[in-house]
Amino acid sequence: MDIDLVKNKNEDKKIIDLDEDIKIGGKEFTIISGPCSVENEEQIHTISKFLSEIGVKILRGGAFKPRTSPYTFQGLGFDGLKLLREAADENKLKVISEIMDPRDVEKAYDYVDIIQIGSRNMHNYSLLKEIGKVDKPILLKRGMTATVKEWLMAAEYIALEGNEDIILCERGIRTFENYTRNTLDLTVVPIIKSLSKLPIIIDPSHGTGRRTLVIPMTRAAVTVSADGVMFEIHPKPEEALSDGFQSLDFKQTKKLIKEIKEIKSCIDKL
Ligand code: PEP
Ligand code: MN
Repeated sequence: MDIDLVKNKNEDKKIIDLDEDIKIGGKEFTIISGPCSVENEEQIHTISKFLSEIGVKILRGGAFKPRTSPYTFQGLGFDGLKLLREAADENKLKVISEIMDPRDVEKAYDYVDIIQIGSRNMHNYSLLKEIGKVDKPILLKRGMTATVKEWLMAAEYIALEGNEDIILCERGIRTFENYTRNTLDLTVVPIIKSLSKLPIIIDPSHGTGRRTLVIPMTRAAVTVSADGVMFEIHPKPEEALSDGFQSLDFKQTKKLIKEIKEIKSCIDKL
């Protein structure tokens, strides 16, 4: 770890500047939300409108889906990215979406404000090098079997190409426990903060795989001083084409946003 991502001093923290009032890694707790997959125009517009009404500024939505089974919904690809961009623009939101193939990076450039590297691709060094050349922030998910050191090294691959605007995202690791989809490792928040100046956010949706656990784990993410959270929502989770069982509905989302604000204001007073 010898380049500029390593933390040297206490105040040495990277702030990702998306807009005048959208910064990740500063004092705010950033909320990113949206569906697991962009499914159709109506779905993504309904979600975008809802998020903008409740003050969420960054919309997530998968267009290229790294599904475990090749027989399940694989995402709408570039058609999905276009729908995502249109819905976001209409509601003044920023867009984050996963890119899986280095050959898609250039074509996807105009559709995304943050490029997501998924857990399965954290070790894809050709992809990391390619997105390291892009002048847009990268959200780097932790590989599901990656150690903290391997994760930080993946970030170094990106930074070495010139792009140091990297947000780390803990999304759970694989352990012997199978009650949950993954084991959400919240210890990495203080660990990463002591080792690196990069911001770190939590994904409690993939981190637990259970809707009922998304809310308590988000509360915990605020408490442990993560820089933000990214969670999946759907107007009708039971009808979602992917990850409905871990998606919140609108009512639960509203309640969670209110709780995040309340907990954050308590934490800020400590
Ligand atoms: C996702 O965020 O849509 C996703 C597929 O997550 P992960 O890479 O963490 O499995
Ligand atoms: Mn998902």
